[in-house]
Amino acid sequence: MKINENFLKIEASYLFSTVAKKQREYQAAHPEADVIRLSIGDVTKPLVPVVIDAMHKAVDEMASEDTFRGYPPEYGYDFILDAIQKHDYADRGIDIAKDEIFLSDGAKSDCGNIGDIFSVDNKVAICDPVYPVYVDTNIMAGRSGEKNEDGLWSNIIYMPCTAENNFTPDIPQEIPDVIYLCFPNNPTGMVATKEQLKKWVDFANEHNSLILFDSAYEAFVVDEDIPKSIYEIEGAKTCAIELRSFSKTAGFTGMRCGYTVVPKDLKFNGTSLNPMWARRQATKFNGVSYITQRAAEAIYTEEGQKQIKETLAYYQKNARVIYDGLCDAGFECYGGVNSPYVWLRVPEGYTSWDFFDELLDKCQVVGTPGSGFGPAGEGYFRLTSFGNAEKTVEAIERIKAVYKK
Ligand SMILES: *Cc1c(COP(=O)(O)O)cnc(C)c1O
Repeated sequence: MKINENFLKIEASYLFSTVAKKQREYQAAHPEADVIRLSIGDVTKPLVPVVIDAMHKAVDEMASEDTFRGYPPEYGYDFILDAIQKHDYADRGIDIAKDEIFLSDGAKSDCGNIGDIFSVDNKVAICDPVYPVYVDTNIMAGRSGEKNEDGLWSNIIYMPCTAENNFTPDIPQEIPDVIYLCFPNNPTGMVATKEQLKKWVDFANEHNSLILFDSAYEAFVVDEDIPKSIYEIEGAKTCAIELRSFSKTAGFTGMRCGYTVVPKDLKFNGTSLNPMWARRQATKFNGVSYITQRAAEAIYTEEGQKQIKETLAYYQKNARVIYDGLCDAGFECYGGVNSPYVWLRVPEGYTSWDFFDELLDKCQVVGTPGSGFGPAGEGYFRLTSFGNAEKTVEAIERIKAVYKK
């Protein structure tokens, strides 16, 4: 038996464990300190009442022989696919068919699994900094090449996103086969305009590249002009797959539900990707639980929309508090508007980790060092709005007291 040696190339991600360890050590040395975490990448508000009601009802159905359900359809029950098709696409003027939507246990799985349907010989382009899953899953699959001295993988095309290009990637010199885009972005909190996405769609169509568009944070988009879906861009159905999740939209991180759109017009070398993904899912995935699908369906009701918007507004208000407070304290800040994340530049002469240590020491506030999301994240820092509102206000007051000149 030979193991997949690509796994030996991956280093354990020390980012969140180091953050947690440093917080623990600080707390042990300062037992009375009230440490506030603005580092959380998970939601904290409970599921909304319509979701809970829908689940209770679904549980009762499972208890009776006439309404019990066994294996769900591989790609999702019609009731949830219809709701997604109507609310997320048709109502927004986007023509996506029901059999182009594949319900799943979340965007992270789909993001890793989608690589099954394209060759290991493809060259992928990935933003830097970004959600680490894109790089790591390509290392596991054998697409990364070797790690260079500068910490970059030899066969990955990096697209740096820094203040210099307003955190939107430039078209790379070398033509990629697969392009990962994530907007609103984790960790920078920045969005892409229609014009910027159009540039990518045209490029991908011209060069026969595939775009993987991760819009896990689309529910945070408040700006009417900012696209929530790549399919708002003309030509996207012949070059893009879209990944969506109920995790950040409706607090489903512990429920596990998302979906992926693979248009039938998406063809490479004359082969449509839609039946390939259908085959892949039917073979390796047995569907999302009935109870979870009913929970997801409830989000799309009128009352459901109202309730999840209240939760989103709670986080959005926190984001505003962080963004405004940090700007007021003299920091260069980004994101925070169409996103739960605020991205800031650390003071001159500091590394991301230096700033982490100082913020913990002087303000008892925990954030996430930008360098953990990729080499180009060095010199930046991420704060999140997923915490408690009063604690968030308190954290920002402390930061202002220390840094405001
Ligand atoms: C949180 C997140 C996801 C969501 O993953 P799930 O598996 O659906 O919970 C996907 N992409 C990015 C960039 C994220 O930050």
